[in-house]
Amino acid sequence: MSTPAARALSVFPAGSPGEYDLPSDLVTVLARGAGASVWDVAGREFLDFTMGWGSVLLGHAHPAVVDAVTRRAPLGSNFAYTSEPALELAEEIVRAVPCAERVRFCASGTEATAYAVRLARAHTGRSKFLKFEGAYHGANEIGTASLFPQRFLEFPDAEPTSAGLSAGSMADILIAPYNDLDRTARIARAHRDELAGIVVEPLHRCTSPHPGFLEGVRALATECGALLVFDEVVTGFRLAYGGAQEYYGILPDLAALGKALGGGYPLGAVAGKADVLDLVREDRLGRQGYVWFASSIGGNPVSTAAGGAALGELRAPGVYARLFALGEALRAGLRAALDEEGVTAQVQGDGPLAAVVFTDRNVIDYRSAATADRRRARAFLLGLFRRGIFLNPMSTKLYLSLAHTEADIARFVDVVRHTLREDIIVLR
Ligand code: PMP
Repeated sequence: MSTPAARALSVFPAGSPGEYDLPSDLVTVLARGAGASVWDVAGREFLDFTMGWGSVLLGHAHPAVVDAVTRRAPLGSNFAYTSEPALELAEEIVRAVPCAERVRFCASGTEATAYAVRLARAHTGRSKFLKFEGAYHGANEIGTASLFPQRFLEFPDAEPTSAGLSAGSMADILIAPYNDLDRTARIARAHRDELAGIVVEPLHRCTSPHPGFLEGVRALATECGALLVFDEVVTGFRLAYGGAQEYYGILPDLAALGKALGGGYPLGAVAGKADVLDLVREDRLGRQGYVWFASSIGGNPVSTAAGGAALGELRAPGVYARLFALGEALRAGLRAALDEEGVTAQVQGDGPLAAVVFTDRNVIDYRSAATADRRRARAFLLGLFRRGIFLNPMSTKLYLSLAHTEADIARFVDVVRHTLREDIIVLR
């Protein structure tokens, strides 16, 4: 009889649903999750520091979400039409997210950013889009252009990180260095007549914006007659209830939402100005500017009920103070462990997010992050995994949830110390 891991390896490429580049001896199959832990089918517990890549912000199987889903599921899983939970959630998004006047649901963050880009192109009648090097906006064209570039082309040329992207789609994408407003402005102005929009992860991976950077990007988009799209798939409902736009006080034209929005269930959304979102109205089919935006399963009553329940919990007093305190404790613990073990690295992140970059450089953009010692990063993440920390070994971004405790963080930092001592220092 083959093991669950062997079965996974025989049907899933590399044994995983994607992005988990684990050596075959670490491939496993999960049975369940509760709070900040997951268990594999052999009963081994892992402390989870990826939390469904950040989609499960409340913790696994949170009672409020389980209850909402259990009540909705018997009433029908999908009508591909407005349901009560979808309506209530859309109303809540409009209340919460500053730029949101209208909302359309889809099923993932990848779709949300792709639709936001399409909407900006339709609204402006222009084709080029500016993104920041190393930013992820989902598995679509814009997200995979210069995501992990290897060749460091001259800005603004895009290097596809995935095969299968057409040269034409790359030619419409302009790459700029994050946190470099002058360079970004020069690129945008040189293409101002063709520029449909600028898309930005307001917190770029785990790199914070320099003071004035996002304000400058906002002004630049306006100056060029382009739309500003905030990819809030990670930051939405995480850096603040109203997302990065509330946290940093910058109003984009459009926002892509996903992850935490669905309370761990499949859901994405584009929210933004009414005149832009209204381009998707089906009564405009055949007219100039009409945008095709359709999803059979997006906005289904079960996912939106889960999302509504999750947002209800996130509105409770003290939630963001708690998430930020946990994140601070994690980053401080990581810094102390690195210091004590004499390992040079930068600890990044904000709110309930953290990342470790093994470089002595100040990390402000992709190229400074790319000075990191990748052998160390890989050994570190796999070392944590082997010692019972569940995370995505392709990236160092760590996601916390409301279910994490100070004791979980202390346990994690202890594992970090062992890993640095036993797996990293020996790499010198
Ligand atoms: N945008 C950002 C900033 C993301 O981090 C991700 C997912 N990691 C996405 C978009 C894509 O979301 P999804 O995986 O739900 O398609």
